[in-house]
Amino acid sequence: MRLPSRPAEMIREVFARVHAWARHRSRRVPALSLAVGCPKITSQRRRGDPRAFCHVGCRAGKVCCSALVADLPLEHAVGLFLHELGHPMAWAAWRSSDQHGADAAVRRFLGIRLRYSGPLLIQRVPASVAERILRGRR
Ligand SMILES: [Zn+2]
Repeated sequence: MRLPSRPAEMIREVFARVHAWARHRSRRVPALSLAVGCPKITSQRRRGDPRAFCHVGCRAGKVCCSALVADLPLEHAVGLFLHELGHPMAWAAWRSSDQHGADAAVRRFLGIRLRYSGPLLIQRVPASVAERILRGRR
């Protein structure tokens, strides 16, 4: 599987593939595009939150992420993006979109169970699942 080598392009490609896969899987996944670099994430990180990589809802129709997502293993990048897609699905379904609700929506509507691992306890899917999603296999 070939991904662009430049970090920002690689992140955009990973998001586009995860989003397309998820939209095919469930009509509950809203149209969203990715904004790489968000001043709110930068300031969260500066204030000492090393788990601040992504969020949704800060700008209409956007998932925001830090360029540092490019440094994470793909299993984590895919997990993070799926989790962000879970927030609007959880809100639409249950009027609740806390962290647990986002993961529950990913499980219920996309059939993927997110786990948390690594020193920062970042969302993760198994490598085989990341591979399948990034290759666009249903
Ligand atoms: Zn933002």
